[in-house]
Amino acid sequence: MERAIPTDAPESDAPAGSIARSVAIDGPTASGKSAVGRALARRLAYGFLDTGLMYRACTLAVLESPVDPDDEDAVAELVRGLDLDVQWPDPETPRVVIAGSDVSDRLREPQIEATVSLISRVPAVRDELVRRQRAFAERSPIVMAGRDIGTRVLTEARTKLFLDASLEVRAARRLAEEQAAGRRSDLGRVSDETDRRDQLDSTGHRAIRPEQAADDAVVIVTDDLDIDGVVARAVEAYERANAS
Ligand code: C5P
Repeated sequence: MERAIPTDAPESDAPAGSIARSVAIDGPTASGKSAVGRALARRLAYGFLDTGLMYRACTLAVLESPVDPDDEDAVAELVRGLDLDVQWPDPETPRVVIAGSDVSDRLREPQIEATVSLISRVPAVRDELVRRQRAFAERSPIVMAGRDIGTRVLTEARTKLFLDASLEVRAARRLAEEQAAGRRSDLGRVSDETDRRDQLDSTGHRAIRPEQAADDAVVIVTDDLDIDGVVARAVEAYERANAS
């Protein structure tokens, strides 16, 4: 069954209603946002968007341009003019397209991992991507994951989740992902990188610790839960929030 979100789709309901029914998922790197978000989207028959992919795509565009990643003004100008699109041939697996080319499979390259925090800390980059992310949720309800979804992008969403897990558990998950992707890795290095990402991501409206989550977010600690366990709690939170 195709439940794509075509970019020229007519609005199915009032924008405010669409955002209100959307689900905002925040949490630090490797807290399970994508796996849970995708499964939740399937359950709700919504699309899923991992907003990290948009920051990664901007990083790829900067790295492939003559722009110095440290030059905030030039980075912001490049991002504002970037022909960046997200398409949903499959609602749970969005594809990221730059100037007509699907770059989705390149967004986890080590150079992007190493530079993305530098690009995402630029306020004008964040403003631009927040605007584009809101536009997606205005078209149809969506499950959206990131660091600032409940606190900035979809503040009107009735369901806000904050997924948390210890550094040890998150590093072990990331290591398993890297090994599954065929990359050589070790726990010490992955743990250091996860910790570094936390430090770099802890500025500017971003929630990487439970106390930074939106006041109305449901905090789910995922250390001892598998994906099904987290999804069950997320569905419960959604049904409670949208009961009336
Ligand atoms: O979630 P993921 O690790 O793929 O995100 C990549 C990077 O994009 C994060 O480390 C963070 O710097 C940035 N990001 C962000 N705000 C979001 C999503 C991601 O700053 N909503």
